[in-house]
Amino acid sequence: MATVVRDLCQGCGICIQICPRGAVKLSGAVAVIDADMCDDCEECVFACPNGAISG
Ligand code: SF4
Ligand code: SF4
Repeated sequence: MATVVRDLCQGCGICIQICPRGAVKLSGAVAVIDADMCDDCEECVFACPNGAISG
């Protein structure tokens, strides 16, 4: 599953907008991926400008 590297996330929200499954939410200023909703398409991995999501 795609996971967010908390130290790299800037909370920009791009991954939230791009996720086709609505699996990403912000918790404070850090993105969090819901494992039950994520299908590992990795769109967020490529979209994150900070390289904060690993697939
Ligand atoms: S796109 Fe990257 S930096 Fe922006 S909220 Fe998502 S994980 Fe964080
Ligand atoms: S891998 Fe795909 S489904 Fe999972 S959080 Fe990223 S964009 Fe959403």
